[in-house]
Amino acid sequence: MTALNLTNVCKSFGSVEVLKDINLTVEEGEFVVFVGPSGCGKSTLLRVIAGLEDATKGTVNIGGTVVNSIPPAKRGIAMVFQSYALYPHLSVRDNMALCLKQEKQPKLVIEERVNKAVRMLDLGAYIDRRPSDLSGGQRQRVAIGRAIVREPKLFLFDEPLSNLDAALRMNTRIEIAELHRTLSASMIYVTHDQTEAMTLADKIVVLRDGRVEQVGSPMELYNNPANQFVAGFLGSPA
Ligand code: ADP
Ligand code: MG
Repeated sequence: MTALNLTNVCKSFGSVEVLKDINLTVEEGEFVVFVGPSGCGKSTLLRVIAGLEDATKGTVNIGGTVVNSIPPAKRGIAMVFQSYALYPHLSVRDNMALCLKQEKQPKLVIEERVNKAVRMLDLGAYIDRRPSDLSGGQRQRVAIGRAIVREPKLFLFDEPLSNLDAALRMNTRIEIAELHRTLSASMIYVTHDQTEAMTLADKIVVLRDGRVEQVGSPMELYNNPANQFVAGFLGSPA
């Protein structure tokens, strides 16, 4: 079973075509990284997959179901944003539990899943704090925890580390790689950081101006870039 299948996906805002005929498959358990310059449509593509934007044309199929008309909360996905997007008035625990409460999950299930995520992300000491009393790295871990508790089949990360300093970026990157192994979920990860792309990805999708420029493993793209653009992006000598 494929985790995600995009067929001829297009997205326009007014007369501006931002995504142009995107075809893409993510296999179950695969870690796929989207790279490309600022403004090429990476976030828009994630938002279309998540259902935060509607595709203008084409089909979004998640886990074998066409989800074009299914709302975000019912797509079996969870998204982590660059800006964390935590609720400032809620504690760490309540930020993580909120979605599950809205889904009307039993109290025990909520407690168990939140506790498990807290252990995985080493957030035990912060569970009653508000986001404003946390560092950037801790906030991003809470945001990741909030995604984990929903037990999604597909995680979507939109440049989750770009607000963190270099050391923290490396630690959190390693944590995300560990999560991928532990959870055996499919993940799509947007970044413009070559190191993140090369170390995390099973498969890299290079986007340029709303189109898929090249798809391949990090080594394939590094050794065999289709053109100067891809070569420049992955830092290999052309
Ligand atoms: P990236 O994440 O690769 O930097 P985005 O997906 O954010 O790129 O944006 C791609 C293009 O779509 C940009 O030109 C941006 O200005 C435009 N865009 C994104 N969202 C909207 C929107 N809601 N309305 C109009 N234009 C948008
Ligand atoms: Mg973006």
